[in-house]
Amino acid sequence: MPETESTENSRIINEKWFTETPQGKALAGSRCRKCGRTYFPRKRVCVQCFEDGRMEDVALSRMGRLYTFTVAEAGPPGFTLPYAFGYVDLPEGVRVFSPLGGDFARLEIGAEMEMAIGPIRQDDGVDVIGYIFKPV
Ligand SMILES: [Zn+2]
Repeated sequence: MPETESTENSRIINEKWFTETPQGKALAGSRCRKCGRTYFPRKRVCVQCFEDGRMEDVALSRMGRLYTFTVAEAGPPGFTLPYAFGYVDLPEGVRVFSPLGGDFARLEIGAEMEMAIGPIRQDDGVDVIGYIFKPV
């Protein structure tokens, strides 16, 4: 079963955030055909050009660099503590806000990160599946 399909015990946080590629699931972005600026999540109108009909869908890189992060010791219900989140810069020029996984001791600004898909929190006993970046 594809990893981004909802089941009885899991649900996808937002199907529109993902796209299929030959290498597997990727984040679904959009790129302005006029200025080249790329967005995630997708936008219908480029906020630099303000012209409709100029955006094209693009699959974003699964690899990026950690821009900044924090490790939280307290949080809303459904999160396993501690949990980490931060911003990852992708080669397309997109800064993605993301939960972070893997060994938190390996998190450092500038670290090479890879996107994975998996549970990011629980909601009434159901795993919420989303993207999560982990140190390579
Ligand atoms: Zn533009």
